[in-house]
Amino acid sequence: MSAIIIDGKKISQDIKDELKKEVEELNQKNIFPGLAVILVGNDPASKVYVNNTQRACEYIGIKSFSYELPEETTEEELLNLIDVLNKTREVNGILVQLPLPKHIDENKVLLSIDPIKDVDCFHPYNVGLVSIGKMDGFLPCTPAGIIELIKRTNIEIEGKNCVVVGRSNIVGKPVSQLLLSNNGTVTTCHSRTKNLTQICQEADILVAAIGKPEFIKEDMVKEDSVLIDVGVNRLENGQLCGDIDFEGCKDKALAITPVPGGVGPMTIAMLMKNCVKAALMQN
Ligand code: NDP
Repeated sequence: MSAIIIDGKKISQDIKDELKKEVEELNQKNIFPGLAVILVGNDPASKVYVNNTQRACEYIGIKSFSYELPEETTEEELLNLIDVLNKTREVNGILVQLPLPKHIDENKVLLSIDPIKDVDCFHPYNVGLVSIGKMDGFLPCTPAGIIELIKRTNIEIEGKNCVVVGRSNIVGKPVSQLLLSNNGTVTTCHSRTKNLTQICQEADILVAAIGKPEFIKEDMVKEDSVLIDVGVNRLENGQLCGDIDFEGCKDKALAITPVPGGVGPMTIAMLMKNCVKAALMQN
């Protein structure tokens, strides 16, 4: 039987529509959510993400303040700008697009964002809240998007055997924590994991966040499992593919996310959700 193809484009659009309504209601109460987006330098992929973020803001009714700074911007200049934005009432969320140029200390910059405006959920304060199971503040965008995809496909997480391949700070670790908070039984794997195939074969829900094209093959996945593919890899022919062999696995799984069109569109939708939350927390 063919798997349910989890439509991330549709689910992210549903979330944006819900947020649009919520923002209209907030506007009635004189609350106008605002997001500042800072881009330093000319990284093309970052520019695309920033443009998409601004488009989503416009659609939902979030005011966006854009700062496109030259590559030579100093760390001090960037920290000064963040300081001003931390104090600007109209700005509820601050997004500093990563990666930053090498001469700027990324950690220092992320630490300088007021945690109440940290809509990317990268500040250690917010990371800490998530890791102690506080789910009512900001949630990390891509991981929270994964949870939404699973829940909106009517798949239970509670009691399920969840395996996450990847332990990065932006995907692997936080998605493991969110699955755990949703009462999954979670195993987090990485490049030193022994018996990876065996562990994956036991997964009711398998999340692949590795960054290696089609690494997870059909023989590694359990019959009727839920396969979430975070990977975005570009093949030599220019095509995008995920970390899971989609064609090989789709007839064995219960549900699977495609690449593109699965997890990808969820990140910005969840960022928008955090912006609306930020406006609520600050009003
Ligand atoms: P990282 O490179 O930071 O992490 C990759 C993880 O995979 C590491 O924990 C690494 O282990 C693990 N890994 C690598 N090789 C193996 C292996 N052979 N066996 C088991 N584990 C392995 O990547 P990210 O987490 O940042 O991103 C992962 C993928 O997701 C990328 O393709 C990225 O482009 C994509 N991505 C997509 C997003 C979206 O759709 N919105 C957002 C963010 C990322 P170790 O720690 O031991 O090195």
